[in-house]
Amino acid sequence: THFGFREVPVAEKQRLVGQVFSSVARSYDLMNDLMSFGIHRLWKRYFVATAGVRRGDRVLDLAGGTGDIAALLHERVGDTGEVVLGDINGDMLRVGRDRLTDRGLVRGLHYVQLNAEALPFPDGHFDTVTIAFGLRNVTDKQAALGEMQRVLKVGGRALVLEFSEVRPAWFRPIYDFHSFQVLPRLGRLFAGDADSYRYLAESIRRHPPQDALKAMMERAGFSRCGYRNLSGGIVAIHSGCKA
Ligand code: SAM
Repeated sequence: THFGFREVPVAEKQRLVGQVFSSVARSYDLMNDLMSFGIHRLWKRYFVATAGVRRGDRVLDLAGGTGDIAALLHERVGDTGEVVLGDINGDMLRVGRDRLTDRGLVRGLHYVQLNAEALPFPDGHFDTVTIAFGLRNVTDKQAALGEMQRVLKVGGRALVLEFSEVRPAWFRPIYDFHSFQVLPRLGRLFAGDADSYRYLAESIRRHPPQDALKAMMERAGFSRCGYRNLSGGIVAIHSGCKA
């Protein structure tokens, strides 16, 4: 691999990803708060606020999981718009649907179990496609980016919120300590599951850094690709347009 990390065979990886998210589905939201000190909420708010989504838009949120992004998108597109929450894992999808329904969000929301690598939608179907903390879990990221491009309307935009490469060098040892020492312990303590959180830390480290991901988006056919770092590059927002 070009980042020098051990590669897990595809089928094996898909099985692992499935297991990981089934075992964390219930504790997922609590763990997000603990792991990021609650900051993931701010990242997600900022991500959706700057997505350029308008009333009446049709938006696809891939790897939508427990529905944080879909709920925020729904506020923006309103009742005349449409938000499709897509996820490969039925347990995550169920938790997401229950949570949004409990908050009274029903109209204009749809749930589809899907693989981001092969989307069950026609070409040019969506105004915006988002994927938040999901791309790093997809086996064939290049295929997923290609599919995001395909289902966008001309003039539409894709946005990726994902962990990235921390920029100040002095911060890296602290960040690695948090990822590989603190997270698995939090996982064991609060979710009874250290392995899943070890896997999450590993998947963050294996994900392509800022410029590599930008190049992948260009290869997928996006134009005007760019990114913005948040919190010193702990996460980055990549965007690309369909011309
Ligand atoms: N977007 C949500 C958020 O920000 O809280 C959930 C992110 S969660 C870390 C990653 C999600 O990606 C999981 O729900 C998992 O089931 C989903 N996922 C993993 N591989 C996928 C794939 N190939 N296609 C669609 N979803 C996938």
